[in-house]
Amino acid sequence: MSGSADCEICPLCKNKLEDGAAVCQIRQKGADGINTASLQRGNTIVVKAGSKVHLNCRKHYTNPIEIKTQQSKTKQPSIPLLKRSSRTSVASFNS
Ligand SMILES: [Zn+2]
Repeated sequence: MSGSADCEICPLCKNKLEDGAAVCQIRQKGADGINTASLQRGNTIVVKAGSKVHLNCRKHYTNPIEIKTQQSKTKQPSIPLLKRSSRTSVASFNS
């Protein structure tokens, strides 16, 4: 791939970092925060210091309340255990 790399992608929302939207270049601390949030969200997003993300994406992504919301959404609903019937199968009568 040798295309022009002038349109960067926000790793959080996968949208282009276009002019107009507030973008911030994260530092190590910011990258750590996003990576931690990614783990907590069960995502595989990994960012490095120097990456650019939307300011809003970062704000939402690392927001503990939103992380919790996502966690509760992705949590599998517990499947009610089927009660094993203790009824014995019909026995054949030999009388
Ligand atoms: Zn974004």
